[in-house]
Amino acid sequence: MAHLSEETLTLLALGEAGDPRSQEHVAACPDCAAELASLQRVVRAGRAEAPVLTAPGPGVWAAIHAELGLSDAVAADPLAGVRGDAADAAQDATGPADSTTAGDGAGSGGATVVELDARRRRPRRGVPYPLAAAAAAAALLVGGVSVWGAQRLGLEPEPTVLATAELEPLAGYTARGSAEVDERPDGSRQLVVRTDPADVDGFKEVWLLAPDAQRMVSLGVMAGEEGVFVLPENLDVGEFPVVDVSNEPIDGDPTHSGDSIVRGVLEV
Ligand SMILES: [Zn+2]
Repeated sequence: MAHLSEETLTLLALGEAGDPRSQEHVAACPDCAAELASLQRVVRAGRAEAPVLTAPGPGVWAAIHAELGLSDAVAADPLAGVRGDAADAAQDATGPADSTTAGDGAGSGGATVVELDARRRRPRRGVPYPLAAAAAAAALLVGGVSVWGAQRLGLEPEPTVLATAELEPLAGYTARGSAEVDERPDGSRQLVVRTDPADVDGFKEVWLLAPDAQRMVSLGVMAGEEGVFVLPENLDVGEFPVVDVSNEPIDGDPTHSGDSIVRGVLEV
């Protein structure tokens, strides 16, 4: 009776259903069943982030690197620094020993590589842990690349700038600033205000003023040198086009202090 191939057993251990004949063979063949159980322990250990058994050899990274067509900048094996002499020795052997897997409890803490029990294995076996590690590393890598790539490529939608303003200092101040009205992807608008540092006795408050500077809308408190304020949906910026940042004493009076730090008119 021909035993199952290493590939078939590995796939079964990774949870693939396999064909019925493979399942039947495992059910009937103690040798393959034992091998499968061993591989499953390795897979469980890998998925549980159990102590590292042996670091994959340099060839594993080289294969990932080649398969994914990565640049020369990342050609160096990222695990080269963590692979000690013991792991190198283990790499030459047939694979991780059963006693290093997660099910063995207290003795398995740490990254100790224990003596391999090569006698119980057919020499061609033993690839699974590096294989599983390589698969996990590739998944992590691809995941990382895709997140990085999305940011790099600017796939997150940028807001549309509807209007901008240069903010000039008012009497008693030297700080300057800028403001812009953005339309966000969901259609809402926000006012982004930036100012140079300024001495304030209380706090900074951001307003949109009518041209007569008599009517105004408070957008809120500005902490630091930049603030983002959501504009009310029905607010007509054309009616209140003047951006104003005031110095407000904490006096309980909600009206504008009359002490403005910077001011500027929004230009579409
Ligand atoms: Zn068999």
